[in-house]
Amino acid sequence: MRSDGEMVKTLEPSATARSNESLSLRWRLVASIKNLLFFIYLYCGYVQLRDFILSLAGRSRAVVLYYHRIGATDVLTTQSEEFSRQLHYFKKRYECISLAELCRRLREGQTFRRRSIVITFDDGYRDNFTQAAPLLKEKGLTATFFVSTGFIETERDFPHDLRDQNASGRFPKLTWDDLRQMEAEGFEIGSHTVNHISLGKADSVTVEQEVYDSLVRLNRELGPRERAFSFPWGKPEDITADAIESVRGAGYYAAVSAYGGANTRGANALGIRRVDVGNGHLSRLAVRARIAGFDPDYLRLKIRGLKSRI
Ligand SMILES: [Zn+2]
Repeated sequence: MRSDGEMVKTLEPSATARSNESLSLRWRLVASIKNLLFFIYLYCGYVQLRDFILSLAGRSRAVVLYYHRIGATDVLTTQSEEFSRQLHYFKKRYECISLAELCRRLREGQTFRRRSIVITFDDGYRDNFTQAAPLLKEKGLTATFFVSTGFIETERDFPHDLRDQNASGRFPKLTWDDLRQMEAEGFEIGSHTVNHISLGKADSVTVEQEVYDSLVRLNRELGPRERAFSFPWGKPEDITADAIESVRGAGYYAAVSAYGGANTRGANALGIRRVDVGNGHLSRLAVRARIAGFDPDYLRLKIRGLKSRI
């Protein structure tokens, strides 16, 4: 028979369970406060007034979004239903255009009267073909898919996927047939180098190879056409003036980063900024606030830049 003391012990939650519970409570509280801030930012009138003034000045915001995967939820994956809901929201609130159209407007020096959105994907995961493309088609939207050609139709893992030991082989890559079909359906296929390396850390010969060889491969497999380029990792330290020159020299019509907020009239097509909305853990309000200009990634980079100057 068990003593009373033992009975109490089994009924009481363990210290770990209690600390997990308090962590989850704290996490929920932080999430609620964040969502409240996003809500205030979105609906206090500031965004509406700013966008109205920008429109009058012909300098409306063109926001280029980037995703990685569509499917289950993780830090690089947006859930399919959520993606579909986001597309519906974009159509309702923004003019949805292709990257080529944005760059045409920039080249022609057009005024930007309406706020617009461009959808892009990085890397070349197969769910871009099986999940994203059908949802985009269903909504009548287009997108640019930037692929690292050395990973297409292979079982190679991206370096960022190898951080998680269980991720090996978990995310199949696109095939050349998928890409041919996507291009035939009107989607744009661009380069994300051959080996997904940071061009800010590579020597000049490697930079040239990554930029040129990926374009040659895309044009050989899919047919020659105007293509855009996306810098792997895409933060300031991954993009150098020399790398941009290589991109220009290879003949790409645009290059995109992975930071920096919105673009508008006067922006350089080889310096297009993007906003990350592909983190599946972001709340619905967080995604909307990021697109409207509340971009914590960009703020963090700005603070880092300021600190390094001090
Ligand atoms: Zn990438």
